[in-house]
Amino acid sequence: MTSVVSISTCSAEQTIAAAGALAGAVRPGDLIVLCGDLGAGKTAFTQGLGRALGVTTPITSPTFTLANRYEGDLVVNHLDVYRLAHIDEVRDLGLHELLDDKSVTVIEWGDAIAGVLPGGYLEVRITLGDGSDDRVLEFRTVGEEWTDREAALSNMAGPASDGGGTC
Ligand code: ADP
Ligand code: MG
Repeated sequence: MTSVVSISTCSAEQTIAAAGALAGAVRPGDLIVLCGDLGAGKTAFTQGLGRALGVTTPITSPTFTLANRYEGDLVVNHLDVYRLAHIDEVRDLGLHELLDDKSVTVIEWGDAIAGVLPGGYLEVRITLGDGSDDRVLEFRTVGEEWTDREAALSNMAGPASDGGGTC
């Protein structure tokens, strides 16, 4: 696992903007794993990514539905495995089928099922900072799928798209 970049945000809007910046690096078939406590901003991040990928319908938390599907420039599959009682249930999600060449798949709490994920992925870990709206987004690549995009990810933390500027 390679730690690529860390971005500080101090509002949901800045997290949404940071996720939007990631959209430029996303490819069909990608898997993005979001980790962080309840209320960290995983769903907010997905909303920003989805919006930047052309999803116009509101993206809501899939905590109770397990998986939602949105049509944009790509299909955005949005999963939340928080309520999975057993790792065997991952089979029912049909992850292999979701990861096709027309979609990007985002899994909230995906670190809980890391051992059974198909292939590599981008991990985005969101942790709380000092202020109530402060968050730190840490991006790590796992496997080879994202290796050639690490430079692009690093650029996301640059001055032009720095979500962590003045609060
Ligand atoms: P999760 O999916 O991780 O449980 P949500 O995205 O549903 O979290 O909720 C995050 C909450 O935190 C939202 O109410 C959002 O407005 C708020 N928030 C405050 N500051 C931030 C920030 N910097 N980034 C993301 N969300 C933030
Ligand atoms: Mg959520």
